[in-house]
Amino acid sequence: MTTRRSGQRGHTSGRRRGGRHSRRKSYKGQWLVVTALAVLGTVVVAHPDVAHRNSLAAQAVAGVNEVAQEEPVASVTPRTTPVPVATPTQKFTTPLRPAPTLTRKPKGAKPNVLVSTGKLAVVPGSDKATGVRDKMTYRVEIEQGVSVNGAAVAAAIHKTLTDPRGWQAVHPVSFERTDRVDADLRIILATPTLTDKLCLPLDTGGEVSCRVEDRVVLNAKRWLYAIPAYNGKVDLYRSYLVNHEVGHALGHGHSTCTTPKTPAPVMMQQTKGLAGCLPNAWPTVKAT
Ligand SMILES: [Zn+2]
Repeated sequence: MTTRRSGQRGHTSGRRRGGRHSRRKSYKGQWLVVTALAVLGTVVVAHPDVAHRNSLAAQAVAGVNEVAQEEPVASVTPRTTPVPVATPTQKFTTPLRPAPTLTRKPKGAKPNVLVSTGKLAVVPGSDKATGVRDKMTYRVEIEQGVSVNGAAVAAAIHKTLTDPRGWQAVHPVSFERTDRVDADLRIILATPTLTDKLCLPLDTGGEVSCRVEDRVVLNAKRWLYAIPAYNGKVDLYRSYLVNHEVGHALGHGHSTCTTPKTPAPVMMQQTKGLAGCLPNAWPTVKAT
């Protein structure tokens, strides 16, 4: 009875709307019943909760077990870590191996220009200006790994720049070599790979040289092998290379061969062909 009554109460006013409020107005006995019901309800309601908690607890336990299982795995991982790290390194090294193979392809003892280290080294020392006019300082830099004698390269460049047939006879300029960082011009001898990078945005295609901003970049492939049209006169071609690119630095643009069988203008792109003109390295030597 009491159960039903309180049950009814529970249905009408207790459980759904303001249950607690109406219960406070009830008698103690009803309180007990309601409380008992509430306890029962709690048990019933709590049951899935308990079950859920149990499952959570089970999961937690399982989780702990997993962690506990992972821990030894984790402690094993450091031991195995050097192995996977070592494997990619080997994989990474393998594709790089063919590069040295390429260096062996040029016949005989020809210097290597195919492997680019990308690192430049300044040739130490200086060569005083030979004139008294506006001094233009330059610094010679050579890509590390290019098998040339830095001092010899610097000497050849200075000889060309101060030659009586050179730009000093055309412009009021005196070239002085320095190894200081504040040089007016950087004359760089680099592999085709680095030449292409240093010449951007110009396209040197791994074959030609350039002048960009304060950089005169001489392609080591050309410095060492010149071009067929020079018939083995490598020193002459080197002088052309230096004078042509430094000519750009002095403000000169390109010119063309206008009269075949006469000296090619130094500002002609001779590396791309002489168009019937003769090899020429000097700005003072012109077609007559
Ligand atoms: Zn040019």
